Amino acid sequence: MKCPKCGSLEDKVLETRQSKEGTVIKRRRECLKCGYRFTTYERIEEEFITVVKKDNSVEPFDKEKIVRGIKLASTGRPITEQQIRQIADEIERYFIDEGKLKVTSAEIGDIVKSKLRSLDAVAFLRFASVCDNFQDIKDFESIIKEIEKEKKGEKSE
Ligand SMILES: [Zn+2]
Repeated sequence: MKCPKCGSLEDKVLETRQSKEGTVIKRRRECLKCGYRFTTYERIEEEFITVVKKDNSVEPFDKEKIVRGIKLASTGRPITEQQIRQIADEIERYFIDEGKLKVTSAEIGDIVKSKLRSLDAVAFLRFASVCDNFQDIKDFESIIKEIEKEKKGEKSE
């Protein structure tokens, strides 16, 4: 494995660890030339995560779809491309670490919502409206009330 610091190809493995489900192998390495320590992950390729959609059709997990969805929801909001990509990466990493290779679009939506909720309320509402097929303004009102209640709760604590 090429050392990220000096480019040497010679290293030794200090430690090898496996995730709970055995889907990710993590190796701690040390460069034999400069002594730099780094970690590599060996894992199942992401196309092996399959997504079951609402109509029960199945498609390969596509991180770019998550990125596009969040981008749409956060148009004009103070959320950076980097933050969006980080959310998508975290979701992928979460499924792999948990060994969940079959997920539903609703599960993905829920995680995106929980992450957006703490980041930006407007982007969260927009995303939730698409994700949960909000039918009218009442759906928004109930969720806005919920958020307000949470905020008050934080203040009074
Ligand atoms: Zn090195």
